Amino acid sequence: MSRFLNIVPVADAVATVLRISPGLMTETVPVESVAGRILAADVTADTDIPGFDRSVVDGYAVRAADTAGAGEAIPALLHCTGWISMGRQDTKLAVGPGTCAYIPTGGVLPAGADAVVMVEYTEEAADTVLVKKAVSHSENVLLRNEDFKQGETVFSSGRRISPQDAGVLAACGCAAVTVAKKPVVGIISTGNELVPVTAVPEPGQVRDANASMLAAYLMEYGCIPRVYGIIADEREAFEAILARAVPECDVVLLSGGSSKDDRDMTAAVIATMGTVLVHGIAIAPGKPTIIGRIAEKPVFGLPGHPASAFVVLIAIVRPLLDRMLGISRPIQRTARATLTINIPSQRGREEYVRVRVEKGVATPLFGKSGLLNTLIRSDGLICIPAGSEGLEQGSMVEVILW
Ligand code: AMP
Ligand code: MG
Repeated sequence: MSRFLNIVPVADAVATVLRISPGLMTETVPVESVAGRILAADVTADTDIPGFDRSVVDGYAVRAADTAGAGEAIPALLHCTGWISMGRQDTKLAVGPGTCAYIPTGGVLPAGADAVVMVEYTEEAADTVLVKKAVSHSENVLLRNEDFKQGETVFSSGRRISPQDAGVLAACGCAAVTVAKKPVVGIISTGNELVPVTAVPEPGQVRDANASMLAAYLMEYGCIPRVYGIIADEREAFEAILARAVPECDVVLLSGGSSKDDRDMTAAVIATMGTVLVHGIAIAPGKPTIIGRIAEKPVFGLPGHPASAFVVLIAIVRPLLDRMLGISRPIQRTARATLTINIPSQRGREEYVRVRVEKGVATPLFGKSGLLNTLIRSDGLICIPAGSEGLEQGSMVEVILW
């Protein structure tokens, strides 16, 4: 096997990832526990919303024409014929010329009425109501189906369900929501130098940061992370853990050992148990990345440095998750900012630079590879395309926010 990586452009790597992506799997979940899930079917309103003309204020249901010209000085005098009850349609109460009925917020507008005067603009004197403000037709009334019409598509599949969405889904009568099944993603940390979080590292050792970072990201993204722990740089350990993880997961991520040193086991083991499709991507950081497949399951070898692993996770693994989850529009929070200094970049590779963003200004955080602190001091990444030799001070950049 050659000692050099066979570098492919990011677009080719992503195309490979999409080619081997498992299909979308769906399940239904109760609308009460749907937050953060991805809708896997369009949702239509099962009824008109609202299903009746509804007052949006506490006040008096009137005929707008009866209030024409009314004001503080010359109120309109209307005869109050009764009170509307909440939660039902009162068929007995009707509003005719010169009359009104008290209506609470959410009450059904009585027959004959076409507007509501807010109680603040009225005064009651026995059966007579003084209306001190004119209202126009439909004022303070939410008309039947003004929100959503029966049969209207309210949500399209592929959308990540927000708390607001959950409320609207419930209003649309969607008790069981069809969503993408959460992909199970195995996480394996590799390296003789790695120790668990609970250990105090001896000289030469480092705590496993990647497993927790990857698990946190995956959980937030809508997957089920499955952490397999740390394995040594030994072929048998790799084979044993992959033999367990591959059948149990939809995707497996290994971190560390993804390059071509003698100690780097990942590619060789994937090649034995399955196929290595990509080894080396024109991305920085993250060049020594592996995309492979074992038993039809995508298996990634991510670089060991947490910051590199994270960039590869976002740039290369996320498109796979999007495909598996059926995400139509990936949420990528971005901010536009002005660059404080020149950033040179090597043409031919996509470069991701961590930046801090403050008041519309992006400051790159350069540092030696392997630093953890730039991960938390930064607000996001800017991507310098492969075809560019860098970005100039003062230019507008788009920051992919964390
Ligand atoms: P490797 O990709 O195995 O050559 O590792 C590159 C660097 O990343 C080395 O300094 C490793 O110690 C470090 N590293 C590898 N895996 C992890 C991990 N899970 N957590 C923190 N650092 C790691
Ligand atoms: Mg290693």
